[in-house]
Amino acid sequence: MFSNFVCFRPFPAIFLSLALAASASAEEKVLNLYSARHYQTDEALYTGFTKQTGIKINRIEGKEDELLERIKNEGANSPADILVTVDAARLADAHEMGLFAPVKSKILEARIPANLRAEDWFSFSTRARVIVYAKDSIKVGDVQNYADLADPRLKGMVCTRSGSHPYNLSLMAAIIAHQGEARAEEWARGVVANFARAPKGGDTDQIKAVAAGECGVTISNTYYVARLMRSDKAEDKKVMDKVGIVWPDQKGYGTHINVSGGGMLKYAPHKEAAVKFLEYLASDEAQRYFADGNNEWPAVASVKVANPALDKLGRFKTDALPVGSLAMYRSKAQIIFDRVGYR
Ligand code: FE
Repeated sequence: MFSNFVCFRPFPAIFLSLALAASASAEEKVLNLYSARHYQTDEALYTGFTKQTGIKINRIEGKEDELLERIKNEGANSPADILVTVDAARLADAHEMGLFAPVKSKILEARIPANLRAEDWFSFSTRARVIVYAKDSIKVGDVQNYADLADPRLKGMVCTRSGSHPYNLSLMAAIIAHQGEARAEEWARGVVANFARAPKGGDTDQIKAVAAGECGVTISNTYYVARLMRSDKAEDKKVMDKVGIVWPDQKGYGTHINVSGGGMLKYAPHKEAAVKFLEYLASDEAQRYFADGNNEWPAVASVKVANPALDKLGRFKTDALPVGSLAMYRSKAQIIFDRVGYR
């Protein structure tokens, strides 16, 4: 779909500007989207936008960090109008790399809560990082807080994905933000001392390891839990029978949340369409597709999704820390994880 853009690039600047001038009349009719989301329900989302606005969406899907690299390398020649990706720290990275353009929109300001947006990117859904424990080997009272994962009574019981993964770095960033570096490092050291095995695999692999008795407790994003809860496979049902879910830190700061979201790119060729698309993502209809497609919660508080797994998980107190501020502590989080051997 992007072949016409690609073939412009080798031409001299004069041809490029002629080509862009020729397409100026059609400017508002196309939107080029780089997306790290790969959910079927997103199709409905894009169709809905095209129906409403007449703007056709060209989509490039890729892995989160690859898309950031690609946009950076394409520079001013990038055809991309919008980047949609996951993890607040990654969105903040894109901001730091100067990839986004500021967006002024009354609609976005009114609909997306202030702690879920920055001047140039917006969250459209939230997910929480929860504790998952083995019901037959762990007492639920022992795993009520993230701090418990570092408690010596859980020695040899903890498994997680890599410390370098954005989900764990963002959680660590939140711990640094709340408690300072020294206490956060103590925590990380305690978690590593409690490892049942060296970090490997994704969140779903950890939940399965807990169910299989390879470890007793882990942390996972809620949508992986919800996905297993909604699975028809007998083996997934067995996994979910064995594990319990805890909202961490309900008596303290609240459970750490992260987001998926996006922003308009600095060199977006179709800026008006890009703002329209961001505003569309904050609409009731789009919020439902966007959040529910990955078993997440809509960023717009008034929008409700009917998702049996999320309903079953229930309500919880979320950490009110602005998600954009996680980026501030992310490199510290990585340094500390490296120092304590949380690989
Ligand atoms: Fe994920």
